[in-house]
Amino acid sequence: MDVNNLPRVAYFCMEYGLNSDFKAYAGGLGILAGDHLKGAKDLNLPLVGIGLKWKQGYTDQFIDDNGEVYDTYHNYHYNFLKDTGVKVTVKVRKVDVVCKVWKLDEFGNNPIYLLDTDIPENGDAWITGQLYGWFGEERIAQEIVLGIGGVKALRALEISVDVYHFNEGHAVLAATELIKEEMQSGRSFELAWEKVRSKVVFTTHTPIVEGNESHDLYKLEYMGAFNGLTKSQMVRLGDEPFNMTIAGLRLSRKANAVAKLHAETANKMWKTVAGRSEIIGITNGIHKPTWVDARITKAFDNDGDLWGAHLAVKKELIEFIKERTGILLDAQKLLIGFSRRAAPYKRSDLIFTSEEIIAPLLKSGKIQIVFSGKAHPLDDTGKEIVAKLVRMMKKYPGSVVFLENYDMNIGRELTRGSDIWLNNPRRPLEASGTSGMKAAMNGVLNCSILDGWWPEACIDGVNGWQFGDGVSLNDLSEAELDKHDTLALYDTLINRVMDTYYNNREKWVEMMKESIRTTSQEFSVERMLDEYYNKMYIK
Ligand SMILES: *Cc1c(COP(=O)(O)O)cnc(C)c1O
Repeated sequence: MDVNNLPRVAYFCMEYGLNSDFKAYAGGLGILAGDHLKGAKDLNLPLVGIGLKWKQGYTDQFIDDNGEVYDTYHNYHYNFLKDTGVKVTVKVRKVDVVCKVWKLDEFGNNPIYLLDTDIPENGDAWITGQLYGWFGEERIAQEIVLGIGGVKALRALEISVDVYHFNEGHAVLAATELIKEEMQSGRSFELAWEKVRSKVVFTTHTPIVEGNESHDLYKLEYMGAFNGLTKSQMVRLGDEPFNMTIAGLRLSRKANAVAKLHAETANKMWKTVAGRSEIIGITNGIHKPTWVDARITKAFDNDGDLWGAHLAVKKELIEFIKERTGILLDAQKLLIGFSRRAAPYKRSDLIFTSEEIIAPLLKSGKIQIVFSGKAHPLDDTGKEIVAKLVRMMKKYPGSVVFLENYDMNIGRELTRGSDIWLNNPRRPLEASGTSGMKAAMNGVLNCSILDGWWPEACIDGVNGWQFGDGVSLNDLSEAELDKHDTLALYDTLINRVMDTYYNNREKWVEMMKESIRTTSQEFSVERMLDEYYNKMYIK
């Protein structure tokens, strides 16, 4: 790519995962956005980020002495954000809301501009209070600030934009502002929409229908999200109720899903949506300097002592776990890492399905498991999943641990210090799964259902393992699939993973090398950005 001749991109996202201390992310979407920006910086690409400055960020989530999950919030202050001096105004419930624009400067040519409503001018300073806090009206207000406020901020900052990238449906209200601009220069709604479409690209993330946000039209209108458009125009963009993903698909010249299998699923999911853009697959990638341990890379590159390097990193993880929980794991025994948002389809507790099978392995310490993951603060089902994992920790002392308050720091420790990385979602509901990429490049072997990115990478028994043989919810009912996958998990774990770990260390290390060799370029953010430019941003 000739970097001097590339389209200038404005990347919109509700969250950015840049480091553990900057509370501007919740999970995978933010990690992806953070890595996208870091990669753009490394490659000196003309791309800026638009987001929100969250006063409290996402929940800090802990477990009390009775095993109950609870959420805490703090007000955070960051001295590394620069005041741009720019303020823009959006209307929420017909009231002016002033958004102060901060700049995250550490990205050099790729600043992230963050809008903030927590200023004295505003009666409601809490719009940018909690990331994914609350629902309904508050979420719409946040989306007005991100989308409509974001476009206004770009104008006020005099940043020229060729392509608007809406990463997830949260940002689609930006299009109402873009359409309004076109209509103000005399175009009809039709022509304005067409013009806007030619500049917008969209990324969809969740293959679960209910996970795709939608809002009642009357509520959007009441909140001010129409932004001057009429109800019938809004319905044409996003249907009724207004679906943010459908709107994204109709407002973009091209859309993408975040892995090849996800693209198939997404095209099926949105098949009947008229006038939508094509959805291609651009598999996520990760920013290696953030996630991959230099000792592992060095040992791999120099054909050095890879096992020795792994053991050193594993011991650091064990020390980290001991500091946090008081539990001391055994560096010689197999250590399984598992960290995911606590959502039912991810089946965090699948491995505990048959106590008869798993209990002896845990009691003998042949298997040790370290879990982490948060539930959404308003998701009681998710909290019950976390509570169950915590009960398992008490039931199998010294073999099962749960690390509370999952964040990037824990994510990094787990994806480099575990021996295997377990992933067992109900196929095909996991869109991509970047934690598996982090693990793979650290020589931590993936043991995973063939979902998300893994079908593209897996050479079964060579660079990791698959189980479940690609059977999915399209083939079996949920209950049948759970049973099928549980048996497959036990079979693979006991007869292939444990057997290799305990009886054939040489093969294990060979597999670690294959894991690093086959994923490090293919699932890097450089490859991903190359695809975004060549398939999405450049016309
Ligand atoms: C990498 C990472 C994620 C995304 O991983 P998934 O594989 O999508 O679950 C989420 N949260 C944190 C803290 C991470 O480090």
